[in-house]
Amino acid sequence: MRLDLSDHTILVTGASRGIGRATALALADVGATVAVHYGQSRDAAAEVAEQCGHGAQPIQADLTDLTATDRLFGRVVDVLGPVDALVLNAGVAEPTPLEADTDEWHAAWTDTMHVNLRAPELLCRHALPHFRQHGGGRLISIASRAAFRGDTPAYMTYAASKAGLVALTRSVARGFGEDGVRAFTIAPGFVRTDMAQDFIDEYGEAHATSDLALNNLTVPEDVAPFVVFLASGQADHATGATIDVNAGSYVH
Ligand code: NAP
Repeated sequence: MRLDLSDHTILVTGASRGIGRATALALADVGATVAVHYGQSRDAAAEVAEQCGHGAQPIQADLTDLTATDRLFGRVVDVLGPVDALVLNAGVAEPTPLEADTDEWHAAWTDTMHVNLRAPELLCRHALPHFRQHGGGRLISIASRAAFRGDTPAYMTYAASKAGLVALTRSVARGFGEDGVRAFTIAPGFVRTDMAQDFIDEYGEAHATSDLALNNLTVPEDVAPFVVFLASGQADHATGATIDVNAGSYVH
């Protein structure tokens, strides 16, 4: 099978680094035009867009800022024209131990919910009417294994935000199928990125690999091909599904 997404324009949030970066590059590799969203990593995003080619553009928005988030989808349409797929990838995992003081606790929950759940919700609010108007579209959410099995006490906020993202994505699959919208969740386990590095530094790499069926950690390039396949339309009858990419941790 050869995939050709050369007539697709795709917004990937958090495409400056990690899984988002690998996803943008993989989508571009099959011809897609990518909106390379970023928050702070401007140079990295510019480099990703340049590597992508096919008219890719870096587009900034801080996803803790509701106004900037609310404008993001429209800005992408203004710059690149109609959008065929939205990849909700940007995320944060801030440790929030029970011992944190109330202000820190509140700030961490608020930021995590903004980036991991409220930004997806606001982006969907613009993407869904857009998809309906253009005969359909695809939503691909990068959630986490933590949505299903919970996380360590310090990362409860992360797990809760990702469970919300799964429910949001399934609701889109249920409610907008007749509008031509297809919605999928990818739930990675540990993936070797800056985000995972913080956890590995705290708990050690052995902790991350101890519950895997494979003997090496997943890397972003292991996740990206699933996004390409889901965005291509070849998997549309799996709408509502979750793809677990966790090095076999559920069968270990
Ligand atoms: P990462 O390397 O830390 O990259 C995070 C990306 O999100 C960056 O591009 C960053 O952009 C963007 N981002 C973060 N906060 C933002 C904000 N306030 N505004 C705008 N952009 C923001 O993370 P990753 O590991 O690739 O994670 C990607 C997704 O996979 C996340 O949703 C994560 O929860 C999920 N995931 C990761 C793992 C893992 O083990 N790594 C496991 C399961 C699920 P800037 O740098 O430009 O600000």
